[in-house]
Amino acid sequence: MKLLRTHLAWKVFFSYVVVVLVGVVVLATATSLSIPAAFDRHMTGMGAMISGGDMMGNDAQLMEMELFTNYTASVKEALSLAAIAALIASVLASFFISRQVVTPVQRMMKLSHRIAEGEYEERLTVSRGEQPNQLDELDQLALSFNQMADKLEKTETMRRQLIGDVTHELRTPLAAIKGYLEGLMDGVLAAEPNTYQQVHTEIDRLQRLVNDLQELSRMEAGAFQLKPVSVSLSGLIETIRGNLWHQFEDKGIQLETQVEPHLPNIMVDKDRILQVLTNLVGNALQYTPSGGKVSIQAARDKSEILISISDTGIGIALDHLPFIFNRFYRTDKSRTRASGGSGIGLTIAQALVKAHHGRIWAESAGEGKGSSFHFTLPAAG
Ligand code: ADP
Repeated sequence: MKLLRTHLAWKVFFSYVVVVLVGVVVLATATSLSIPAAFDRHMTGMGAMISGGDMMGNDAQLMEMELFTNYTASVKEALSLAAIAALIASVLASFFISRQVVTPVQRMMKLSHRIAEGEYEERLTVSRGEQPNQLDELDQLALSFNQMADKLEKTETMRRQLIGDVTHELRTPLAAIKGYLEGLMDGVLAAEPNTYQQVHTEIDRLQRLVNDLQELSRMEAGAFQLKPVSVSLSGLIETIRGNLWHQFEDKGIQLETQVEPHLPNIMVDKDRILQVLTNLVGNALQYTPSGGKVSIQAARDKSEILISISDTGIGIALDHLPFIFNRFYRTDKSRTRASGGSGIGLTIAQALVKAHHGRIWAESAGEGKGSSFHFTLPAAG
């Protein structure tokens, strides 16, 4: 019984045996019921021949009985042969089917154990093409299994990378704080406001990093809810201008806005899109030297609204462009680290734009030639 409960192959085999037995019993009952009637019909046909001959009544009866016995015996023999042939066929069929079903399932089982132990490299072979409509259920299961393994492997790689990145990011400010404190303890550094200010700056950077990481993890886990409302883009851009004009003036950078007239409203989470705009315009301000210009443009592009933030700043080298939205990616590690950038802002902006079903990308003609950041949002309605 345990075999039956734990082995698919035995289950398949016993199901065939049951089918064969039911077939044999039904056939045997049906034939035992129909043989006498069939025999009688046969004998009635022959009756004329027998009664027309010289055979005595007793002899004829004896011959009839003998004939009946032979007739039933041959039917039973044929039935037994058929039952044996069906049993052999059921053994072969169950062997073949269980090989087809059980072997891939066992392979899947082994692989899932290996994945549970942290080995993500191996995949199942999908034998009959990769198109889902050409696959049977087992191949489709194998394909889904492989896709799941791909995802798990990617998540695991990202997790490892994140731990590495975070460790790296934490190490620098912590080392600096430790250095200042040791300097103070040894009397190498004077206990004056400037020293404390330096420690404060490093702690501030740590705090910003932790906040950014918290925000990023919420974005990546999809653990945030958008509250879309219909808003006017020109209103949002004006808010950004109002929030940042002071900093633009202080740095001597011109801020220009060009919004296409009669732009339809957009259905977005207002605060989240303001966050994206603040990040992009803030970056443009940060990476543009005094005397430069930053412009914000918004225009309709088919069913989308295209928003562009362009600057005349330091630009981005071509080989950095593809990675600019990766977390912790900075084109110039030392400079941006010193200025407090964690390299997470664009990653968060990208996640927010994607959550709004939009696209975001960066363009630059190269270092020193300015940069443009574009993103799209679906037009409301
Ligand atoms: P950060 O906090 O470092 O600015 P971001 O994710 O916002 O983080 O930006 C990542 C990197 O992209 C920056 O460190 C910088 O190297 C580059 N970058 C972003 N915006 C610009 C821009 N307007 N001009 C030049 N480089 C930029």
